Amino acid sequence: MNRRFDTVVIGGGIVGASAAYYLAKAGYTVVLVEKGRISAEQSRRGLGIIGTQRRDPLEMPLMLDSVEIWRGLENELGDTVGWKEEGQVSLFSNERGRRRSEAFLAVAKQFGLTTQLLEPNEVVGLLPYAQPQGRLGALYTPADGSADQELATTAFARAAARHGAVIWENTAARSIDVWGEVVCGIDTERGRLGCQNIVVAAGCWTSLLLKPFGIAHPSFWVRGSVGRYPVVPYETKLAVSCDEYAYLQEADGRLTLAAVAAPVHDLMLHSRLKLLRLHQLKQNKIKLELGKPMVRSLMGEFNDFTTHRTLDPAPDVTGLKRAAAAFQAEHPVIGSIQYQRSWAGYMDYTPDGLPIIEAVAEPRGLFVAAGFGRHGFGIAPAVGRSISDLITKGAIDRDLTPFSSRRFTL
Ligand SMILES: Cc1cc2nc3c(=O)[nH]c(=O)nc-3n(C[C@H](O)[C@H](O)[C@H](O)COP(=O)(O)OP(=O)(O)OC[C@H]3O[C@@H](n4cnc5c(N)ncnc54)[C@H](O)[C@@H]3O)c2cc1C
Repeated sequence: MNRRFDTVVIGGGIVGASAAYYLAKAGYTVVLVEKGRISAEQSRRGLGIIGTQRRDPLEMPLMLDSVEIWRGLENELGDTVGWKEEGQVSLFSNERGRRRSEAFLAVAKQFGLTTQLLEPNEVVGLLPYAQPQGRLGALYTPADGSADQELATTAFARAAARHGAVIWENTAARSIDVWGEVVCGIDTERGRLGCQNIVVAAGCWTSLLLKPFGIAHPSFWVRGSVGRYPVVPYETKLAVSCDEYAYLQEADGRLTLAAVAAPVHDLMLHSRLKLLRLHQLKQNKIKLELGKPMVRSLMGEFNDFTTHRTLDPAPDVTGLKRAAAAFQAEHPVIGSIQYQRSWAGYMDYTPDGLPIIEAVAEPRGLFVAAGFGRHGFGIAPAVGRSISDLITKGAIDRDLTPFSSRRFTL
């Protein structure tokens, strides 16, 4: 078996799978190693909203590239990804929300988005089944969309394989090999692999992988919780969000609801409180919880890549109940129903909410794409393509400086 590749991609989430696809399509020999299964951690646990709305302007050029990719992705990959361009509505209930929404209109104008500010009566027109309570209005972007996280990620991996990429599941990368100042391979559970380039798209595990090189990946884990209702007597194609919940309805009528009010950071041995505090200052509140994850981290459970082939944290039951109460109060038509199932996922957050996408200065040949927080799915195709272009062409026509990890040390 060939053990030398142009590029090794570490991580089979949407970022790693899309990078592997574009690299293989460009004619590079690629192996993607995934410690568990493709699309098993962050990239299967979210709602799949693909939104420009309320994005940081720094992310907007890449995000708009991504929307263009999403529009043609099913043709490009020859596979189903569940892409729908049905629009996104973000409700607000206080003056702060109105100010933030108004401020975004300037960003929307700058980037040519079709975003509009809606008055309460217009919200009712858009969501006829809802009885919004105390909402002052909403931000609405008709051209935002959504896709199925698992379908899209596995479609990228399958298409990469069709272009010759080797996909190894249940294969953890244990360490990165460096010769002088250049990467030369990785050590995996299936032995060593030689390569010229390594893409680290390892989501929550990126810090652990980079630590031996003294490369700081400034991120911390945040637990997001999601519940799925059975088919509800309600119909909307829009992605809807507010301070309490966000939801998206499947074509068959089932509805997936995320609790967004208070994402949770589970205190663990490796918790990076300094980064958390920096985030709290700039962004929303994150609830700190002390429980079983601390005990498990004290027992060394998160110190390697194989004890947790797939991170599968417990959902925040209280947060999900609150989200359900707020949702049901505004949608009396659905009555009082229970979640059919619920789950959670750890997200890889940076203090400023922007990802790290960069070619590392040393060792050369090392590329990092991680720290996408709660909205990495939508932007991932453009990130994968950019990383591929960086490797195959040596440059891209987008400015990646805002995503350099150096912004935290300068
Ligand atoms: C509840 C929830 C809701 C969300 N909702 C949305 C949304 O609506 N819209 C949106 O845009 N985003 C959303 N997101 C965020 C989005 O899912 C993530 O930003 C995105 O999936 C990150 O992809 P990734 O490839 O970077 O990471 P991941 O999908 O986590 O992939 C990283 C992979 O690397 C593997 N790995 C790690 N270490 C190693 C190793 N040493 N060797 C081999 N493999 C390794 C892991 O097993 C994992 O599969 C949500 C996330 C959650 C949890």
